[in-house]
Amino acid sequence: MVDFTLTAEQQDLRDLAHDFAVKEIRPVAWEYDKNGTFPEDIIQKAWEVGLMNYYIPEAYGGTRVDSLSGIQIEEELSWGCSGIQTTLGCNSLAYGPLVLAGSEELKKEYLGRLVEAPLLCSFCLTEPDAGSDVASMRTTAVKKGDKYVLNGSKVFITNGGYANWYTVYAKTDKEAGRRGISAFVVPRDAGVTVDKKEDKLGQRASNTAAISFNDVEIPADHLIGQENQGFKLAMMTLDRTRPGVAAMAVGIARAAMEFAIDYSKERVQFGVPIAMHQGIQFMIADMATEVEAARLLAWKAAVLLDQGKDNTIVSSHAKRFAADAAMKIATDAVQIYGGYGFIKEYPVEKLFRDAKIMQLYEGTSQIQRLVIARETLLPRRASSDSSSNGDSAAASTNGAEPHPEPATAN
Ligand SMILES: Cc1cc2nc3c(=O)[nH]c(=O)nc-3n(C[C@H](O)[C@H](O)[C@H](O)COP(=O)(O)OP(=O)(O)OC[C@H]3O[C@@H](n4cnc5c(N)ncnc54)[C@H](O)[C@@H]3O)c2cc1C
Repeated sequence: MVDFTLTAEQQDLRDLAHDFAVKEIRPVAWEYDKNGTFPEDIIQKAWEVGLMNYYIPEAYGGTRVDSLSGIQIEEELSWGCSGIQTTLGCNSLAYGPLVLAGSEELKKEYLGRLVEAPLLCSFCLTEPDAGSDVASMRTTAVKKGDKYVLNGSKVFITNGGYANWYTVYAKTDKEAGRRGISAFVVPRDAGVTVDKKEDKLGQRASNTAAISFNDVEIPADHLIGQENQGFKLAMMTLDRTRPGVAAMAVGIARAAMEFAIDYSKERVQFGVPIAMHQGIQFMIADMATEVEAARLLAWKAAVLLDQGKDNTIVSSHAKRFAADAAMKIATDAVQIYGGYGFIKEYPVEKLFRDAKIMQLYEGTSQIQRLVIARETLLPRRASSDSSSNGDSAAASTNGAEPHPEPATAN
């Protein structure tokens, strides 16, 4: 049965997140964006009311909601400000591999930290010369006795300047390409260096940092899962987080559309509100269709996850479509505001800048198309029945027949 009705619990979470966005995020969003203010006060409040870390299992002190519930929160908070939601939501990207494959001890310690205090963690995959092409990363982790020693640099790390701990991908076998990557938990106090904070086009309230590891030693038991399993873990994590990124894009798109609708009813040209002109109506009609379609794709990608089914291609459909829709809708919202849309005093200018990142992080729109093309041209056998226990990521990243070697992933 297909039913697009949220349960009472899901609706309650959506309402909670919407109220939080209205009361705590919107009043400061444009100011924080202007000044690049890191939203520490909002992190504290969001953590207190349960709008962070909601995918942590109950066994480790969390509340573990399903993905369809989680993306309700993500759309609403992003409607408030996607930069602030990037800050609040990044923990789930970073602890994703730990939940999937970490040892009991690691989970208790590092998930426990997030449950006990409003701390942040970061997901460290991208490097200066390894963005989409994850397999070409150069950071290394060399085992020495009961420790690993890490060396290398990561760029564009969300919350990198503030994280208490990091999920770090590093080569444990330099000759093995993506099959030589492992994932580790690296506590900040092991000696992580924060090299610089980036000054960004959009999502300016979020922190994006370059970080490095110079002979950083961590206990050997901080390896997540097995050695050389890191790439698969990263891809499995992204399958799980991309529905949320799609929902965030819907949040931006919806905000831009709402501002555009309001403005079009107020602004009078040629003696009538511009909403009376069919050219404006058609732009708004297209916005409404695309918001609806993007949301449905995000929901489907989340529901597949909740059903334990492979969601790789639908996650990519959702992320690609919603990101491109957000960029188009934000661009058209600026168009509807005319010259005022280009002025910082008006709200859509920020949304236009924020929308761009949706086409870039967690896999660019080109990389999503690459995944979609591969899955469409060479569909996996019984893909809709495969469980999400890792087979999906293995098939989508191992290049196992009939799939060609994927050159890119992030
Ligand atoms: C604000 C921000 C936050 C981020 N947060 C994180 C984070 O927390 N953790 C993390 O690890 N990373 C993070 N990233 C990094 C992000 O995931 C990468 O920027 C992204 O994956 C693209 O990598 P790149 O920038 O090196 O671009 P490149 O990979 O160099 O790509 C450049 C262009 O080439 C295209 N391209 C590349 N390969 C192909 C191909 N095979 N076919 C067609 N086109 C291709 C790309 O689509 C893009 O248009 C963040 C980035 C930003 C800007």
